[in-house]
Amino acid sequence: MSIRFFSDRNRPVHMGPYPLERLARRDGLPDLLGAPVMATLEFRRSERPESIVNAMGEFQAMMDAIRDGLVNPARAEVPADPQDRSDHLKAFGYFNDASMMGCGPLVTEALLSEPRRNADIDRLAEALKTRQTKTLASGIDVIMADLKDSIEAQPGPMDTHRNALVFLYEYHRDPDPSEPGSDWIMDAQAHRACLRATENAVVIANYIRLLGWDARAHTATTSDVDLNRLAVAAGLATLENGQLVVPWVGRRFGLAAVTTEMDLAYDRPLAPMSEQPWSATKGPSWWMGTHSAKNALNRDPFAKRRYMDGAHPFEKLKRVETPTTYIDEPNVPRVPKRADMFARAQFGDMGKALQDGAKGGHYVRKSAPSFAQRRALGAFVLLQDGDCASGPCPTDAERNAANLKAASYFLGVDAVGLSRCPEWTWYSHDATGEEIVPPHDQAVSMIIDQGYETMEGASGDDWISVAQSMRAYLRFSLLGGVIAQQIRNLGYKAKAHTVMDGEVLQPPLLLLSGLGEVSRIGEVILNPYLGPRLKSGAVTTDMPIAHDQPIDFGLQRFCESCNKCARECPSGAITAGPKRMFNGYEIWKSDSQKCATYRITTKGGAMCGRCMKTCPWNLEGLFAERPFRWAAMNLPATAPALARLDDAVGNGGLNDTKKWWWDIELAEDGAYRASPHPLNRRGLQTDLDLRHEDQTLAVYPAPLAPHPWPYPFPMDREAGIAAYESMVSAEEYQRRLAAGDD
Ligand code: SF4
Ligand code: SF4
Repeated sequence: MSIRFFSDRNRPVHMGPYPLERLARRDGLPDLLGAPVMATLEFRRSERPESIVNAMGEFQAMMDAIRDGLVNPARAEVPADPQDRSDHLKAFGYFNDASMMGCGPLVTEALLSEPRRNADIDRLAEALKTRQTKTLASGIDVIMADLKDSIEAQPGPMDTHRNALVFLYEYHRDPDPSEPGSDWIMDAQAHRACLRATENAVVIANYIRLLGWDARAHTATTSDVDLNRLAVAAGLATLENGQLVVPWVGRRFGLAAVTTEMDLAYDRPLAPMSEQPWSATKGPSWWMGTHSAKNALNRDPFAKRRYMDGAHPFEKLKRVETPTTYIDEPNVPRVPKRADMFARAQFGDMGKALQDGAKGGHYVRKSAPSFAQRRALGAFVLLQDGDCASGPCPTDAERNAANLKAASYFLGVDAVGLSRCPEWTWYSHDATGEEIVPPHDQAVSMIIDQGYETMEGASGDDWISVAQSMRAYLRFSLLGGVIAQQIRNLGYKAKAHTVMDGEVLQPPLLLLSGLGEVSRIGEVILNPYLGPRLKSGAVTTDMPIAHDQPIDFGLQRFCESCNKCARECPSGAITAGPKRMFNGYEIWKSDSQKCATYRITTKGGAMCGRCMKTCPWNLEGLFAERPFRWAAMNLPATAPALARLDDAVGNGGLNDTKKWWWDIELAEDGAYRASPHPLNRRGLQTDLDLRHEDQTLAVYPAPLAPHPWPYPFPMDREAGIAAYESMVSAEEYQRRLAAGDD
């Protein structure tokens, strides 16, 4: 696990994880014609069919296809100061996990005489003609029409673009060919960096266009500009003997850019490396990380760890044969996909107000950052399933497991677990109402961290909340999608189950694969290193894989002694009472109806994740937090004191330094404007004494589930309240089971 001694709580997000502000800068640009012409990257390795690069190709082409688009004719109300805008866009880029961001002029030396276009875009368009009918996600016609237009469109002029935002993604350690799990990921650094930088640039270009300014993304495969020259002009790299060099990172990085007509303030060009202050780039403050999140000891999380093990010490966790909460596997009822609360809202089961709020994903569109993420998320739906190739079908389950984990971590997944995928984890019917016959029996579960820094600045239910979720969903759709494609390339079946089109219930798979334990939040599985601050996804397959075991890190005892999430939940959806049996699972069952209603209809923000924000396991990752984690895992008796201590030190409160987003909302004229509603921005409610006996909660177990078809099935809340009250403990459930009672 990476080492950080100092908190960066007083460092604004736009400054990034590296102490760029400590570098020496110069006036005037060097001769940019002396910069090496950017290399052309191809996502094809026909001589090495097992290379992960082959699986990335269609995803890169898909993002290249949507790098440009329509500009919102209704311009947003946002700060006019170019510095504010640059800071804001850089912070968005860091939120999306860029290593470094820079702003500079779109210099004429950077314009390519022959724009580059990814040849895979045309191949993808051909492939999609036959693949489009296989996906189930709603709104697929709109996605297809958008893609068709994007693929066929000729890029227009960029006459009005004067400015460039540059994204830099550093490489981590090169995989060692002798390390387990390295079979697929050798020689893929440039492609990984390109893919990740492209994801970021495509989202932010779309964001700027939604705000009403023209913008276009440029990548290592499709570009109108030379990224190397832009990186120098934006103050990210210096020219040394005809090569680009970046402080701390050297020559190991990938680039993408967004050019735009929006006015931006520029970063000054870097001084040569010989003039860079030793204290900033090599001195004790860099080693200790006194100025920034990155330091010499944590810069590369894989410097001393195998890729297959991940960045966190998962190998130290206590493994157990069965999850720490009871699952009555033979009797878990399967429910239709239609039972999902957001689906129920869309079909009008919960009334007109909710249906209006959910229609067309309004809760996503009303926030500009999340609507900007939505386009790529929709496009990836078309790639998450497909035919398998006549590949080599590797049969060594241990080796397959090592390769799957190493490739997932190499790409940027935060936690990976492997398990069986039993029938009871599949929905009974898909989104069209058709019965699902489980096609795969193995699962690769993945976790994407929602990011501590932005969560620190948020209340959990303000205007960034929905984008925090969508960012993680998008990341899984991309990386989980690549892994599913990789499996298919090797000859096995595989499907990535994303937020847009998933057919499995992820919480039980996370439990089986050892990625967390059941928490009081309810359906949220809590991971010991990431807390509840996560989104999950799963790839199901028939590839033989060795399994991980469930984990026990003492969370059941901890959540029994803490109800901070329940106290802080703005809708009162989380139980302050004990665990109960629900659909065959032992769980702190929350009132999903209340939660979904709040998330869809809240006016002072968009969506909610306040339970994740305020949980004591939502940690920054500092060395000083290790005693907390150790005591919470190893000394169950300390749980009540630790929960009180967390409140006493103010964890889960607001940190305005980390608030980088604008509180703007989609208005009736189509422009994003200052929201007219009072902002959801609240501190901790430490004086609230929430008692279970004062709560009225409803649940909808299988007997109350809707029919599987896409039309209304009104929700009966009284029946739901009665169902809540009739739930029993796991002990009572097992006693009745043994006695043969219902
Ligand atoms: Fe928000 Fe739902 Fe969590 Fe409550 S349970 S804090 S409404 S996300
Ligand atoms: Fe458990 Fe407390 Fe976190 Fe809720 S806030 S999930 S009770 S540790």
